[in-house]
Amino acid sequence: MAPNTVTVKCPQCQQVYIAWHTPAVNVTNSSEYEPTTVCSRCGHRAKMKDLSDRDGVLQQS
Ligand SMILES: [Zn+2]
Repeated sequence: MAPNTVTVKCPQCQQVYIAWHTPAVNVTNSSEYEPTTVCSRCGHRAKMKDLSDRDGVLQQS
């Protein structure tokens, strides 16, 4: 199984980093599950749903 990673551009410090993307599995209440990603540089936590894919990089639109 290939590693499931995404490239994210931090909305706060503009750092581009690789993050693991964890699909919503084994979640009892999926309606409350909001995948997030944490910046490796500044620690800013961004919600995946607030980011959009642009040229293969998830970033704030
Ligand atoms: Zn950051």
